[in-house]
Amino acid sequence: MTDIETALGDLVVANRILANENVVDAYGHVSVRRPDDPERFFLSCSRSPELVSREDIMEFGLDGEPSGGDDRTPYLERFIHAGVYERNPDAVAVVHSHAEEVLPYSITEEPLRPVIHSAGLMGARVPVWDIADRFGDTTLLVIDMEQGRDLAGALDEHRVVLMRGHGFTAAARSLSEVVRLSVMLPRNARILTTALRFGRVKELSEGEIARRLRMNPDGPEFWRAWEYWATRAGCAEMLEGHPNRGG
Ligand code: MN
Repeated sequence: MTDIETALGDLVVANRILANENVVDAYGHVSVRRPDDPERFFLSCSRSPELVSREDIMEFGLDGEPSGGDDRTPYLERFIHAGVYERNPDAVAVVHSHAEEVLPYSITEEPLRPVIHSAGLMGARVPVWDIADRFGDTTLLVIDMEQGRDLAGALDEHRVVLMRGHGFTAAARSLSEVVRLSVMLPRNARILTTALRFGRVKELSEGEIARRLRMNPDGPEFWRAWEYWATRAGCAEMLEGHPNRGG
């Protein structure tokens, strides 16, 4: 299996996992940078993640335009992905989601922060980007490169940025890592929201977060989750022959 084939297969599995774990629904998307060309990335055409198959994957440049005259309808918000890849060379995979659990933290002063061990990779601080700050009254959607770049600037070197009244965007070092981050983020938000009713909350320390981030994002303990989620999502057969599949 070539790196490209692996990346495309993983991207389909990532779409199915995110849908099955309720991170995305009709909307939301996931992309991966092209392994042999950092100036390009793969992202589905405009379909719901649960329905995405290998044939739906399109290739884009860092300006958000499709490669090679591909005239299929792309996602309106593909500029989110283009902006992040253009700004941060370390970003290998990106998720955009409208997960409801995180939205209260995008419209209030209460900061979203990691409170459970598996959410440590979201980092200590999650900035909130408000599209109105620079663009005034919009549909709240990120529909051009200027808006994508502005969002990417707010994300900067963080792992997650909340988008006011809209959702979140997450970036990570691999597809499996960005999927894990995106699955854990709403769970962490749900637990934080519950705990805040009781009063003061103890979050992960800076040192704990740093140690979580030093774990190998594609180590065998994380493959276990990928295999589990892929199987639940009905695409276990797509893992056949995968290079990360160990004993
Ligand atoms: Mn959106």
